[in-house]
Amino acid sequence: MYYKYVKINNPEFFAEEHLGYCRDLGLKGRILISPEGINGTCSGSFSQTEKYIEHMRLDERFKDLWFKTDEVRGHVFKKMHVRVKQELVTFRLPVDLDPNVLSGKHLEPKEWLELMQQDDVIILDGRTDYEYDLGHFKNAIRPPVKSFREFPEWVENEFKHYKDKKVLTYCTGGVRCEKLSGYLLQQGFKDVYQLNGGIVNYSHDPDVKGKLFEGKCYVFDERISVPVNFADEYTVTGKCHHCGVPTDRYVNCANLDCHRQHFECETCEEKWARSCSEECMQAPRHEILQNA
Ligand SMILES: [Zn+2]
Ligand SMILES: [Zn+2]
Repeated sequence: MYYKYVKINNPEFFAEEHLGYCRDLGLKGRILISPEGINGTCSGSFSQTEKYIEHMRLDERFKDLWFKTDEVRGHVFKKMHVRVKQELVTFRLPVDLDPNVLSGKHLEPKEWLELMQQDDVIILDGRTDYEYDLGHFKNAIRPPVKSFREFPEWVENEFKHYKDKKVLTYCTGGVRCEKLSGYLLQQGFKDVYQLNGGIVNYSHDPDVKGKLFEGKCYVFDERISVPVNFADEYTVTGKCHHCGVPTDRYVNCANLDCHRQHFECETCEEKWARSCSEECMQAPRHEILQNA
């Protein structure tokens, strides 16, 4: 997992070439290329990923690229995708935001842990509501957004009164907070920080070991979630969509025309045949009940 905001000329050409390279190497994953930089998560064997990192660092633009690695069994993606997008994270602001020019102060895990325990700080989750629900930092604010591009409106309407407070932002690997924290500064917030390397790096840090993170971290690959906190006792933050008991089981609705991701405990999964509603249980394209 890595990202860097750096100018990439002719991203289409670079993406095509890069996809060829990754395929030849045998990597799987998802990489985004944009005129403003690169952001990717890939899986492969030790030697494949090592080769990839070496190859990337030969490129002047990526020689200081920070790769966050994790040991997992097998691939966590089915395919290799390299896509070109206008922005690394879709924000769609009328004005350009370059994190290399304007961004919140980076905090290392140890500094973050210290600062987040002060009582004059606001901790802002820089991700979406469903990611928050699976797990988040203790006392963090849950932004009611379904996608990143909803942040500006929410900040404008709801969050702006924290302008004079110390604001701590975090996200999965750091790429979103580079923008979000910059945006807050641009909107007149005075004191904005971001967790360097995000939750992933915080979890791997040998000193903090994910301390004060509750629940699990949502990830955008086949694992769906990963454990974060190896310091405190595990707390479940999710609640079953049907019966309300604490659960961290995220499942997709078995109605193929719905497929909504929702929390469902084991008992309810059986009772509801993994459907999110009565209506979905009766739906014609039901994976389990096959109502058609
Ligand atoms: Zn339940
Ligand atoms: Zn459904």
